Amino acid sequence: MNIQCLGAAGTVTGSCYLLAVGEYRVLVDCGMFQGSGEMEERNREPFVFEPGEIDAVVLTHAHIDHSGLIPKLCRDGFRGRVICTHSTAELCSILLPDSGHIQEMEAERRSRKKKGTRVARHIRPLYTEEDGRRCLSRFFGIDYDEMHEIVPGVQVRLQDAGHVLGSAIIELWVEVEEGKTCKVVFSGDLGSRGQAIVKDPTWIAEADYVFIESTYGDRLHDHKIDRRQRLSSIVQRVQEEGGTIIVPSFAVGRTQEIIYELTELLAHGTIKPFPVFIDSPLAVEATRVFRNHEDVFDEESQVYIQRGTDPLAFPGLVFVETKEESQRLNMVTSGAMIISSSGMCEAGRIKHHLRHHIWRPKSHLVFVGYQAPGTLGRRIVDGARHVRIFGRDYKVAAHVHMIEGFSAHADRGGLLDWLGGFIQKPKKVIVVHGEPDVRKIFAQTIEEELGFETVIPERFDSIELLV
Ligand SMILES: [Zn+2]
Repeated sequence: MNIQCLGAAGTVTGSCYLLAVGEYRVLVDCGMFQGSGEMEERNREPFVFEPGEIDAVVLTHAHIDHSGLIPKLCRDGFRGRVICTHSTAELCSILLPDSGHIQEMEAERRSRKKKGTRVARHIRPLYTEEDGRRCLSRFFGIDYDEMHEIVPGVQVRLQDAGHVLGSAIIELWVEVEEGKTCKVVFSGDLGSRGQAIVKDPTWIAEADYVFIESTYGDRLHDHKIDRRQRLSSIVQRVQEEGGTIIVPSFAVGRTQEIIYELTELLAHGTIKPFPVFIDSPLAVEATRVFRNHEDVFDEESQVYIQRGTDPLAFPGLVFVETKEESQRLNMVTSGAMIISSSGMCEAGRIKHHLRHHIWRPKSHLVFVGYQAPGTLGRRIVDGARHVRIFGRDYKVAAHVHMIEGFSAHADRGGLLDWLGGFIQKPKKVIVVHGEPDVRKIFAQTIEEELGFETVIPERFDSIELLV
């Protein structure tokens, strides 16, 4: 019985683990690699297993770096069930077809680029929008805290990970032999305590093996109060001096959190009402899915709902859907906020907004999430003076802000606290889902502060599970 790390080992994307128990094969996540071109090429590699031989997939949450290769898996022969929470299934129903659409556009763009050259050829998309839609019939939603047998001898229970709507920590009980069980826990992406809308991550008391993410395992975030203050001071500054605020944001999770923070700031009179445009059809749909699942919101948001107010709406909030409406935003040069995806500025409408604002000294670019190495977002955050957008060079004259407190990932303190919740010492803590240096630092911190034995697996390494 072992677990092989197929992704998110030495990277923060491409989360995928293969559990082999006797004749059964179960995947935990089947995520897409994101970031540089070289990283994305990995998505095109054939699976190292036979998709038809996988019995089930257990999915932590809907983000593409955890779910994005499910359409490819299904197209290549997977016939089992994808087990996840109900809200994750619903979010995937918008995210995966959208991801397929992006793949088709990208393939078309690359084919066009090669046209007329000696290497002219038609580039096939990684998968299509139709593949993204077709795989949805494999999804099987379960409730948090519900025991479920995925294959004979393997039970699963999902607990709230507090990272994004529907996100889950996976608890797996594997029967090794009569009466002997090994428990493996996957943290998935763990949210920060006090994060808006979603609940705090659930404490887990025991496990033999724990796979823990380490995206921010080397640093502490701004506090929730700081992030609200930082956001409000940028808005106040723009309301006094003019200029536009551009927020590259992930459509699912982060965008809704910012809407929630703005609702709070407006309710307390900290900022004056002003136009806020959500320029992403995906974010508009995702916000609708959030509203469908208010029952899993945290207490703070429940108070709003009980008062009869919507925590995800305020006067001045405009959902931009069509391309024409989006283009009209180019005329907005002052006193507004535009929230658009993608969150790392690699694709989507955000690139058009950056093109119109990055060179304006009065504009403010506000980053609210992790920026992977090799992305346009990372270059801007790292202080590039010039960047290329759509093949043209632009001077970075706008103010650049990074508000880390918005991160949907727990910081070092949050991760250690959560690990500290294990009453029994796990046999091993496997540190995954982080950049190489960060994993090393975090693993060392775990050993020093908690005395747990750690492992830092490389891609394709296997962890033997012993009882
Ligand atoms: Zn995530």
